[in-house]
Amino acid sequence: KLENATAKAELGRASWRLFHTMMARFPEKPTEEDSLALKTYIQLFARLYPCGDCASHFQKLIKKFPPQIGSRNSAAGWACHVHNQVNERLEKPIFDCNKIGDFYDCGCGDDKNAAGE
Ligand code: FAD
Repeated sequence: KLENATAKAELGRASWRLFHTMMARFPEKPTEEDSLALKTYIQLFARLYPCGDCASHFQKLIKKFPPQIGSRNSAAGWACHVHNQVNERLEKPIFDCNKIGDFYDCGCGDDKNAAGE
């Protein structure tokens, strides 16, 4: 089957949105179980990402830059950094990670996240 750049880019945008929004909702003070869940999620995301070339690049990236899962800030900063690594390889603009704060809004108001925070 032919490669379809539009579909690939849309999958990328949707995936990054979920990825960053999940970091923005990760607990500020995670339990060990929360941190293990996030690490496992990231590893499986990298393994199962539907675009095979993207997945193998991303697996190498997370080996070089191991997931930071100790707090919301570190997870969000890490995700921004690895997305910028992908941006750099694809010759896309670099995002200012100091501005990540309120950028990703889940739209879920004051409901509790999975950890009850
Ligand atoms: P995207 O990179 O999709 O970003 C969407 C929006 O996120 C931007 O408009 C900006 O508002 C914001 N943003 C940008 N940078 C950051 C950042 N660092 N932190 C937080 N927010 C940010 N495509 C390929 O062609 N080859 C690949 O090898 C490849 N690998 C990928 C690996 C992964 C894990 C993922 C999720 C996607 C991959 N993609 C790959 C898709 C690619 O990264 C883009 O998603 C796609 O090209 C669409 O780009 P875009 O310009 O719309 O912006």
